[in-house]
Amino acid sequence: MPDASDPQTCRRCRLAEGRSRVVLPDGARGGVMAVGEAPGAEEDQHGVGFFGLAGRNLDAAFAEAGVARTGYARANVVRCRPPENRSPRADEVAACSEWLLEAIEAFEPRVLLAVGRTAADHLLGIGRGKYLWAVEDSVSRVEREIMGEGVGEVDLHGPTGLPVVMMPHTSPLAWNRAYADRQGRCPRIRSLGERAVRAAVELAHECRGYERREVEND
Ligand code: SF4
Repeated sequence: MPDASDPQTCRRCRLAEGRSRVVLPDGARGGVMAVGEAPGAEEDQHGVGFFGLAGRNLDAAFAEAGVARTGYARANVVRCRPPENRSPRADEVAACSEWLLEAIEAFEPRVLLAVGRTAADHLLGIGRGKYLWAVEDSVSRVEREIMGEGVGEVDLHGPTGLPVVMMPHTSPLAWNRAYADRQGRCPRIRSLGERAVRAAVELAHECRGYERREVEND
């Protein structure tokens, strides 16, 4: 367990060596908590999560669902920027996992929104495979739950028992290049991301007074 009294000076993994700042969770309690992979360059410089273009994409998706930036919480699987924006390694994720659990306890979200594959893998253990299909399936099941058609089908985070909704990564690469059309737009990814955020927001409303479900661990 890291020293909870001074998270800014954490040096539990090698990511401490290259960071400018530890990016702490922030935002509103008791609603949706978006969990991303790691801080990027702008987040590292400003010490604020989801600060750059990826953050603006996420803010726009929440705004579409009627929630301002001040109305949801943000955190990352690791709090320090990996060099050259590589994905965090397994030992780095493990080193930071207590911090994320502590943030979830502190912000008391009703729903976790896994932003991108790394977050989804950490929260749900999805492993490899076609990520967008997994997102589509996750979102569809939450939508059915909200419609009263699929009770009990929502993915739950093992250690906390909270519902998890997956969404595509909001980085400009994921939203605008990898799946872009000739105009540089990727409407399918953007639409799926907006559906995921809307589903998470609606599920959080459904979960008022929600008792965390017991999760059977293997
Ligand atoms: S990534 Fe997490 S565990 Fe590693 S140094 Fe930063 S705060 Fe500590």
